[in-house]
Amino acid sequence: MNVMISRLPYGKSIVHPSSMCPICGHKIRFYENIPVLSFVLLRGRCSSCKSKISFQYPLVEILTGICFLMIYSKFGISLLGLKMLIFVFLLLVIAFTDFFTSLDTENFECGVIPVVLTRGGMLAGLILSLVVKPELKTLINSFIGILAGGLIMWLPGFIYKLITKKEGMGFGDVELFGTIGAFLGYKPLFIILLLSSFLGTVVGIPVIAIKKDKNYPLPFGPFISLATIVYIFYGEALIKIYLNSIYGYGG
Ligand SMILES: [Zn+2]
Repeated sequence: MNVMISRLPYGKSIVHPSSMCPICGHKIRFYENIPVLSFVLLRGRCSSCKSKISFQYPLVEILTGICFLMIYSKFGISLLGLKMLIFVFLLLVIAFTDFFTSLDTENFECGVIPVVLTRGGMLAGLILSLVVKPELKTLINSFIGILAGGLIMWLPGFIYKLITKKEGMGFGDVELFGTIGAFLGYKPLFIILLLSSFLGTVVGIPVIAIKKDKNYPLPFGPFISLATIVYIFYGEALIKIYLNSIYGYGG
């Protein structure tokens, strides 16, 4: 995952060369590449040149471990569990790629979501949904999910552009919502959009206040991904709270 996050947005191969220190080129030996443990044992520094290893690596490793454990406890070892594992893997790669490229202002104007992840994701969503439930209905649901996801994200950006003449929403976010639709169908898209907008606002307002720049291009991908992961684990509870707040619907 860390290899994809560090290389895909720069157009580098994820196969060659093998992992090395970006500062001195020292080849990372297998025992220096054990998730979290190696970072701790190396005290966060390259064994050859002693330069600092990015916090990206242990952060991604810890969060992935937690998410995978949660998937196992919710879905067990099943086809649905496998589908969710791949989906969450993809969401985490997208979230971190968007986040870390947004920090790299030398190379990028704003966060980047590589299309290979979203287009590959839409295809994977369609196929894996069919693997879990091989019915025509599944295919249609997944396909409508892609269209609805794209539309729900593209439309606000389009209206924003009409009004302000500025680009407000990256197309990566549009495709990311298409990917979510492919995996989950169209039904949860609206609540995921609400939740990601809420998270984006809660985090975004202080960030913009600290940066003192109201045009600061905060990446939206990490919020969408986080909202989707929250939905996967706590979706039913969220819908209950949501309906309750609107209709006073007891449950
Ligand atoms: Zn080094």
